[in-house]
Amino acid sequence: MHRPLRLRCDSAALISNYRALQKQSKTVVGAAIKANAYGLGAQQVGERLLQAGCRDFFVSTYAEAAELVGLPDESLAVLHGFQQSDEMLPSARPVLNSVEQVRRWRNSGASSRLCDVMLDTGMNRLGLRLDELAALDGLNIHTLHSHLACADEDHPLNDVQLRRFREATQLIRAQRYSLANSAGVFLGSNYAFDLVRPGLALYGGIPRAVAGKVIKPVFAVEAQVVQTRDVHGGETIGYNATYTADHFMRVAVVNVGYADGYWRAFSNIGTAELEGQALPVCGRVSMDLVTLDVTEVTEVVAGDWVRFSIDLPTASAQTGMSQYELLTGLGSRFERIWS
Ligand SMILES: *Cc1c(COP(=O)(O)O)cnc(C)c1O
Repeated sequence: MHRPLRLRCDSAALISNYRALQKQSKTVVGAAIKANAYGLGAQQVGERLLQAGCRDFFVSTYAEAAELVGLPDESLAVLHGFQQSDEMLPSARPVLNSVEQVRRWRNSGASSRLCDVMLDTGMNRLGLRLDELAALDGLNIHTLHSHLACADEDHPLNDVQLRRFREATQLIRAQRYSLANSAGVFLGSNYAFDLVRPGLALYGGIPRAVAGKVIKPVFAVEAQVVQTRDVHGGETIGYNATYTADHFMRVAVVNVGYADGYWRAFSNIGTAELEGQALPVCGRVSMDLVTLDVTEVTEVVAGDWVRFSIDLPTASAQTGMSQYELLTGLGSRFERIWS
């Protein structure tokens, strides 16, 4: 069935961002493809990065890992580790996060297989505490990880975590060590170790201002006009009448809304474009629709496609939502089209 809204995704930009992260980190680059590759499509992203040489992919759960096809054995690491009800997959290694998970892994009968381990160096989210390292004795560790809490800021915890992780690398033997997410890649090469694990920057997010020089946008939203209408001076537009026309206007009502991740926070501040002309959002974004001012554009008709080029840092500043939320909110009604 024809879908009236689509997400245009740019393979060349994705690969270019992957290469930029290789150049910046000077080490091996894996890819966080959890949460459906932040909304862009985990299978499609995985295939493209695999072709570009990527051999390390990160998902949150075994359920996410099980949905992916065609990735090489052991190329996926499951960030939430090995839960009671999880079933082993040839494609995936668990990232063990706690003494309890280590015990479960040892008792699983698979513990001669390689596993990954997450250490908590100061975030207090997932990972073994540094006083629990004895639990790792004898494990066959592929990659030892830790995760930065504040890499997108200049925060003293970055240095503290780096120092603690470096100490842990002296104590725990593993084939590889990994600390940095996207923002961490831009903190400096001393954060890179043997593997970095970007997600956001692969998909065009800018985690630190310097990344803006090398990271390219990967997606744009396109949606079709459902109808156009005249609005007379003095009339209001949309829910709660938040926009009042101060002159005669032509508006286009377009097939995308907050159920698709085009958030209400874009009400009266977002813009779309058609043939290079900016079309401001008028009034509230609805669940399935948004209204655009097309007064200056000649001949907009139902069925025309308009484009929302959502610049992630700008949109984040405008809405108060994180770039992660803006990406992962992109809904399921889009046709995802990779060029
Ligand atoms: C999500 C995640 C990443 C990727 O983070 P970005 O900020 O999107 O680059 C890396 N490591 C871990 C442990 C994660 O959970």
